[in-house]
Order: sequence, then C-alpha cells, then structure tokens
Amino acid sequence: MLKADPIIAKMKNQKINYDKVLKKLINQWEREDIRPKILLHSCCAPCSTYTLEYLTQYADIAIYFANPNIHPKNEYLRRAKVQEQFVKDFNERTGQNVKYIEAPYQPHEFMKMAKSRGLTEEPEGGLRCTACFEMRLEIVAKAAVEYDYDYFGSALTLSPKKNAQLINELGMEVQNLYDVSYLPSDFKKNKGYERSIEMCNDYNIFRQCYCGCVFAAMAQGIDFKKINQEAKAFLEQQ
Ligand code: SF4
Ligand code: SF4
Repeated sequence: MLKADPIIAKMKNQKINYDKVLKKLINQWEREDIRPKILLHSCCAPCSTYTLEYLTQYADIAIYFANPNIHPKNEYLRRAKVQEQFVKDFNERTGQNVKYIEAPYQPHEFMKMAKSRGLTEEPEGGLRCTACFEMRLEIVAKAAVEYDYDYFGSALTLSPKKNAQLINELGMEVQNLYDVSYLPSDFKKNKGYERSIEMCNDYNIFRQCYCGCVFAAMAQGIDFKKINQEAKAFLEQQ
C-alpha cells in the first residue's frame, strides 16, 4: 500500500505537518481509485468522533480498542462499551459500516513495561507516555497485519493534550517493524477538535476525567473508589 515516507522525504528541513501528509496520501488514493482498509487505534469514544466522520469519506475503517494502560478494569470496560456504542450509533446515523474490534485486556503487560523501564514516576506527557503510545501503536500494527488491513493509525492525534508530532514519529518507526503502512494524521487540524466536541454533545458521549493509567490518575488525585462505582453502575445499566 502507498506509504507516507516519500511525501515526508520531500518535506525535510521543516516541521512535518502530518495533516498535510495525510491529505497528500488521500489525493494519491483518489488518483489511483483506492479505498484502503484502515485499523485505527482509539482509547475511548471522543477522539474517534470527528476522526471517523473525516476518514470514512475515503476509507473503510475498523476501530481497534487496544488499551492495556487503562486502570481500573471497570473503567476500561466502560470506555470500551462507550466506544462500541458510538461506532454503532455512528453507523446507524450515517449508513457507514465502521467495525469495532477489541483487543484482549492485558493490563499486566503495561504495568510490566512501565515498571521494568523505570517509568512509573514520570509526569504525564513524559517518557512513560512515549512508551505507552509506542506500545499501543505496536499492538495495532500487529493486529493490522493479522487482520489484513492496509494501514494502521491512531485517533489520538485529535486530542490537543497528546503530542501528535511524537505519535506520528513513533508510527513511522513502528511501520518499519511490521508489514503494514502507517497512516499519518493530525486530526485536531481543520477544526477537528472543535467538531469532536460538537459530536460528543450530539451523540451524548461520556468524557473520561483522566487519561487512563494508574500513575497519571494518582498524580491527578483521582478517586478510584468513585471511578469504580460510577463505571460499575454504568455497566450494570447496559
Ligand atoms: S486521548 Fe483521551 S480523549 Fe482521546 S480517545 Fe484517548 S482517552 Fe479518550
Ligand atoms: S498518562 Fe496516558 S498516555 Fe501517559 S502513560 Fe498514562 S495512559 Fe499512557
């Protein structure tokens, strides 16, 4: 499948605008009459809203919910459920056929990675987050090969709190390890983030109050007892 590397190579000596790279890639798909299959990582519904609205114009998408970082388990299950429900509602309203696939929940793998690399005390936005993005991009790339997708990518570039430049650099590196192309993106551009807020209101989507891992949540003073109770109550209503 067409790779982003030649487009990026022409942009050397400048800060790469990954939104521009994606647009150029989409132009190539259109010229060559390609509608690729993309496996797109997401860690809860908000970042997938505008991202799906945009990408489904050009490609067939499956959301891959692969998030060993999320703690506790009930909160993981709630976010997975909300993501799955959003995909269902989006398909019903738009006539699209986005798939939802969930990876096995393996929180011990994330804990092992963070502890063995001495990353538990890192602040949010630091080296633990780099490793966390990389870990999840690798999981998605592997699954994209297994399920025969043309691209793997991440909806997280929609979030202004996430370092899209870093996520893209990691994605471009990860694609060299697996036989699948990385989909560069910066979905917050073109008012993507603003549109995601509108869509969250419109679809009545729950927004989480912490990124996901136990370490950042503790630093933020999150009350896990309350999170657990709320998540459990939500799951019981389903
Ligand atoms: S980055 Fe934050 S808002 Fe976006 S999908 Fe992940 S947890 Fe949700
Ligand atoms: S703060 Fe978020 S991105 Fe950073 S390590 Fe924790 S879950 Fe991962």
